[in-house]
Amino acid sequence: MQNQKSEWATNESPRIMSYTLANFRQLPQIQKLGEEKQFEMEVVGNVLPFKTNNYVVEQLIDWNNIPDDPMFVLTFPQRGMLIPEHYAKMEAALKKGDKKEIQNTANEIRLQLNPHPAGQMELNVPTLKDGTKLYGMQHKYKETCLFFPSQSQTCHAYCSFCFRWPQFVGMDELKFAMKEGEQLVQYLQEHPEISDVLFTGGDPMIMKARIFSTYINPLLEANLPNLRTIRIGTKALSYWPYKFLTDDDAEEMLDIFKRVVDKGIHLALMGHFNHTVELKTDAVKEAIKKVRATGAQIRTQSPILRHINDDSEMWAEMWKTQVQLGCIPYYMFVVRDTGAQHYFGIPLIEAQRIFRDAYKKVTGLARTVRGPSMSATPGKVQILGIAEYGGEKLMVLRFLQGRNPDWVQIPFLAKYDEKAIWLDDLKPATGDKFFFEDELNEKMKVIKNQDYPES
Ligand SMILES: *Cc1c(COP(=O)(O)O)cnc(C)c1O
Ligand code: SF4
Repeated sequence: MQNQKSEWATNESPRIMSYTLANFRQLPQIQKLGEEKQFEMEVVGNVLPFKTNNYVVEQLIDWNNIPDDPMFVLTFPQRGMLIPEHYAKMEAALKKGDKKEIQNTANEIRLQLNPHPAGQMELNVPTLKDGTKLYGMQHKYKETCLFFPSQSQTCHAYCSFCFRWPQFVGMDELKFAMKEGEQLVQYLQEHPEISDVLFTGGDPMIMKARIFSTYINPLLEANLPNLRTIRIGTKALSYWPYKFLTDDDAEEMLDIFKRVVDKGIHLALMGHFNHTVELKTDAVKEAIKKVRATGAQIRTQSPILRHINDDSEMWAEMWKTQVQLGCIPYYMFVVRDTGAQHYFGIPLIEAQRIFRDAYKKVTGLARTVRGPSMSATPGKVQILGIAEYGGEKLMVLRFLQGRNPDWVQIPFLAKYDEKAIWLDDLKPATGDKFFFEDELNEKMKVIKNQDYPES
C-alpha cells in the first residue's frame, strides 16, 4: 500500500501543481474514473471547494484503491458529502448550465450548511484598548490567542471535511501584514496573561518566508516577557513537505524557526495529520527532520472522520510512527457541526471507543494525545468514557479548555446516547442542565451585547 508507483526522489525539487474544480478533469487518474464519477465530483465540488496538488495526487492517493482510498476521499469531492436534496438541486443547475444559477444554488446550499459553527468568528473578536477591533484574532481561552494572518487564508490543499471557505486576499500584502503584526504585538502588550500565540488560517505555511517574517519579527523585537510559545497550525508537512526541503524559501523559513528558538521562545508546529499514509514518504520524513533540527517541536492533531480514519489500528500506528519520527501526539478532534458532518461525523461514543482501542495499543510516550475532544461553544470537551452506576450507563466528560478556566478538569456526566454526535445532543445525567450552563449563558449575553457586525 505504501509503495506508490511514482516515488519521487528526495533530491528532486518538484514544482507545485494545483488541481481544483477548474482543471481536475485533466488528471489521467481522474479520467480513468469515467464521466459519471467526474460529473458527481463536479456537482459536489461546485458547493464544497476543493483543491489538491501533484504531491497528494501522485504520492499519497493509492489509485488502485478507488473509491475507498482515504486520501482520495479526503481530497476529492464525494457524492455522499451532499445530502440527496442538495445534490439533486445542484445537479439540475449544472445540467441547465446557467452560470448565475449555478452560483446562486451553491450559495443557497452553503448557507444551509452552518458555515460558522460555534459562533467562533463573531464571539471571540478581541479589541485593543484604543477600541480597534481585531478581526484577524480570537481570544477564547485566557492564555492563548489565535491569530489569522490575512496572508494565510488559503491552504496547500483543502481537506474535504473543512469548511473554511478559503479566500484569497488581494491587498497590498506586505503593508497589510506589517499592520497586522504590529496590532498583534500591541494586543500581547495589553494582555500579559497571554503566553501562547497560535498562527492559524487557512494555513500559515502557505506564506512565503518573507511575508511570514513580517509577522514574526515584530513579535521577537518587542521582547514580550509574557510570550513563551508560538504555535503554527499547518498541513504543510502532510500536503507539501517541500515547503521545508526544496522550495525557494525553504532555508529562509527554517531560519525564522531557528530565530524564534534562539530568542528563547518555544516554537510548536501543530502538524495536522489525518492518516499514516501522510507519514510514509521520504519527503515528509526529511521535512520533519529539518523542522526538528531548528529546535522546533512538532505536535500532531487530527479529527476523527468516517471514511478516512474511523479505525483504531490506524490511529495506533499513526501515533507510534509520529513518536518514532520525533513528533508528539497532541489532539484527536471530533468534527464540528458544519459542512458535510453527516458524511464525516462519528457518534461520540464510537469516537471514544476508537480512541481507547488505539490508546491501549501504544506506550506512554504516545499517550500525550488527548481526545476525542469537541471544540464547542463553552470550551474543548473531552469524552472520557462510559461509566456504570446503579446498573445505568453514563457518559463521563470533562473540559480540556473552558471559557471559564475553572471548568477545566471537572468530570461531569451525561445520559448515555449512542447517536449523539456533538455536545448539544447530550442531556445531563441528572437535572435539566450541565453545571456550566448558567454561567455560559451569562457570558454569552455579555459577549453578544458587544457590537459585533453580522458576518
Ligand atoms: C484549541 C484552542 C486553543 C489551544 O488550546 P490548547 O488546549 O492550549 O491546545 C486556543 N484557542 C482556541 C479557540 C482553541 O480552539
Ligand atoms: S489545511 Fe486546515 S484549514 Fe486548510 S482545508 Fe485542511 S483542515 Fe481546513
